[in-house]
Amino acid sequence: MEQAERQEIIDVHCHFFAGQEQAGIVARGLASLRAAGVRHLAVMGLVNPSLDDREVWKLIPQGFPNLGGPLFNEADDLLEFSRLQGAMLFPMLDTRCFTADNVPTLLQGYLQRGFRGIKGLYLGDAENDLGLHSVPATFGITLEQYHRREWEIFAFAQTHDLPVLYHMDARRYGEVMRAILEDFPRLRINFPHFGIGRKAFRQILDRYPNVFTDIAYMLPHIQSDPASYRDFISHYPDRVCFGSDALIYQPEIVLAYIELVKNLGLPTELEAKVFSGNPRRYLGVALG
Ligand SMILES: [Zn+2]
Repeated sequence: MEQAERQEIIDVHCHFFAGQEQAGIVARGLASLRAAGVRHLAVMGLVNPSLDDREVWKLIPQGFPNLGGPLFNEADDLLEFSRLQGAMLFPMLDTRCFTADNVPTLLQGYLQRGFRGIKGLYLGDAENDLGLHSVPATFGITLEQYHRREWEIFAFAQTHDLPVLYHMDARRYGEVMRAILEDFPRLRINFPHFGIGRKAFRQILDRYPNVFTDIAYMLPHIQSDPASYRDFISHYPDRVCFGSDALIYQPEIVLAYIELVKNLGLPTELEAKVFSGNPRRYLGVALG
């Protein structure tokens, strides 16, 4: 009875940073999340075709302990974990380390192997909110070549009806964000962390109906000002998704985010949208 009434929870924003050696702790952690009502976790898996183990960190924020291989080639292990977990894991391909060539061919191969969505991170210059290096400087390509790469990724996602999780700061890159959304009106895209700045991001949400966001990494901000976030979520009831930014072996972080949402005191129907309705619409048919 209690099982039937329990709210379904879908986390649209986790990362992998693990390998086969963590299979045991990952399985135990996922079992504890299942018991808490979590039915699906979208997990971003990196692939790194060309950067060495020092270079790759230019594109990865500090503070996320990587227990997997030093080169961040996570696809094989993530797909294997996904097979073992049935429908619980929803693997999404993290494309930040892609080189500019052959993007559609590469993506087609990963889609056939089982990836069901795409992750990106806009690093057009070194002034990004994460303090990371720019992709053009890292790969020695122009900004135009970088944009062409990203546009190929968006075109592929729109054609194949794949959800995209795209870290991008609406305050600094609002014009590029608008250009993406004008060119790909059917793309379902999640700009996480409230688009980094809620004021700038409101203009995007107001104009483009297929844009979603998530609460990942926002726990301290939400806890320090719950009323303003409650207002924001109530103003955009169909856009905000549950997400945690947890690594796959950190179930305690997912549980902390579940508590965070429950403590917001949202109306039951709105809480259900954040936990499940909005993630389902965002992830789409690929969720099954
Ligand atoms: Zn993230």
